[in-house]
Amino acid sequence: MKIICVGRNYTDHIKELENQRPENPVLFIKPDSSLILKNRPFFIPEFSNEIHYEVELIIKISRVGKHIQKKFSHKYYDYIGLGIDFTARDLQAQLKKNGLPWEKSKSFDGSCLVSEWIKKSEFEDLNNINFKLELNNNIVQNSNSSKMLWKIDELISYISKYFTLKIGDIIFTGTPSGVGKVNIGDELSGFIEEKRLFNLKVK
Ligand code: ZN
Repeated sequence: MKIICVGRNYTDHIKELENQRPENPVLFIKPDSSLILKNRPFFIPEFSNEIHYEVELIIKISRVGKHIQKKFSHKYYDYIGLGIDFTARDLQAQLKKNGLPWEKSKSFDGSCLVSEWIKKSEFEDLNNINFKLELNNNIVQNSNSSKMLWKIDELISYISKYFTLKIGDIIFTGTPSGVGKVNIGDELSGFIEEKRLFNLKVK
């Protein structure tokens, strides 16, 4: 399986990193080796002094598809969850400055947390889902899927032009503002509406 991530999908986050608003979704991929295994902590890697959390709504692909039209996108996923796209911000800044790919800063071992899943049918409106991240019991990120520049169905259609979607693939839909650094001993908890979907320790 592969994990396809969308960058710069919330205006407030584009502003906080002083990035340009893109014409099309920014995409990158994390390999399956980036996944944090169930009940394991996040380990800060030795190559970075500035690891950021980014909480994101995620979806799980349930059907093989390529060149999916937006009106059919909803048939390709059944579950929604929450993920963290851990980012070595110091390394990413260097790579960006030099016009190099981001993978070392975004796709390293342990850079991807995937929560438990909620059935899509449990939501009345997928474009109105509240989600938040708590760091040591303080809310640090708090947003709603309505604020995405490209909504889930648009993302699936766009991504499938370039990458065949396969069963079990996961899409990270981008982070809102509030990203920040993690330190050893921190605890991160993610919520969709009032339901806690993960709790992760940083080591
Ligand atoms: Zn991200």
